[in-house]
Amino acid sequence: MAFGFLKNLWKKLTGKPVDWDELEESLIRADLGLSMTNRILDALKDRKDKLTADDVLTVAQEEIVKILPRDNWTLRPFPTKPKVLLIVGVNGTGKTTSTAKLGALLKKRGHSILFAAADTFRAAAIEQLGIWADRIGAPIVKGQYNADPAALCLDAYRKAEADNIEFVICDTAGRLHTKHNLMAELGKVKRVLQKADPDAPHETLLVVDATTGSNALAQAREFNAATQLTGLICTKLDGSGKGGVVVAIQNELNLSTRFIGTGEKPGDFAFFESRDFVARMLAE
Ligand code: GDP
Ligand code: MG
Repeated sequence: MAFGFLKNLWKKLTGKPVDWDELEESLIRADLGLSMTNRILDALKDRKDKLTADDVLTVAQEEIVKILPRDNWTLRPFPTKPKVLLIVGVNGTGKTTSTAKLGALLKKRGHSILFAAADTFRAAAIEQLGIWADRIGAPIVKGQYNADPAALCLDAYRKAEADNIEFVICDTAGRLHTKHNLMAELGKVKRVLQKADPDAPHETLLVVDATTGSNALAQAREFNAATQLTGLICTKLDGSGKGGVVVAIQNELNLSTRFIGTGEKPGDFAFFESRDFVARMLAE
């Protein structure tokens, strides 16, 4: 697995004097976003000598290291109550798959988990998570097609509470008739969960598809404005030359990536680690 977005940039610029317009375009094409691009350009502006691809690489790397979190984040259960993780995002980004993989990861670490199949708008999504739950050997709360997702999440919470389960992971719908409906539904899920625990959901993680570049940044802006995200799951990093969007979102919204998805298998999922990310920005 490689992120590789800086390697591509370097390849494009190397072997000739670097032209500012081309540089700007290349940084944007690496999915770094406008404000991160400007930040890197500003850091390069003071240079008196001719700009080389190596200078660009060094400065880009330095600027990226500055904004990424220094400490590795982890997910710990509460001692006496379930921790609720709400997984949100638009359709096709990998919500259901990431819900399942996250459950598998936590279970492997010795934690107890419960899935809530709260994308009740797609019968296939309920079935998809059900198959994963069987495979992982984890309990799942699911309702009928079109059931109320907020009530379903509350049921899941109550079950986790009764069974002393540490983590409740709620898959949610990605597309309703309008964006407004989607955000209103997420708002309701939160309000209803708060009847059980005023601090729930304890994490609201937005799933973005790394291959969609600037779209992922736009989605992060919208969801963050509407639902107070606590972090990001960045999927489909198994393709090459991707990952710049992690930087763009961290820089613009101060939202950190918590997990990465790197394939379709259950094990293709890991905690995000800045050092690893930085090391691999230059990999093929
Ligand atoms: P949802 O609509 O957001 O719930 O998305 P799904 O979880 O159903 O995933 C949509 C598609 O993306 C499926 O074919 C998944 O197998 C695939 N997918 C999810 N995560 C990854 C990933 O990290 N890498 C790759 N290559 N495919 C992924
Ligand atoms: Mg889904």
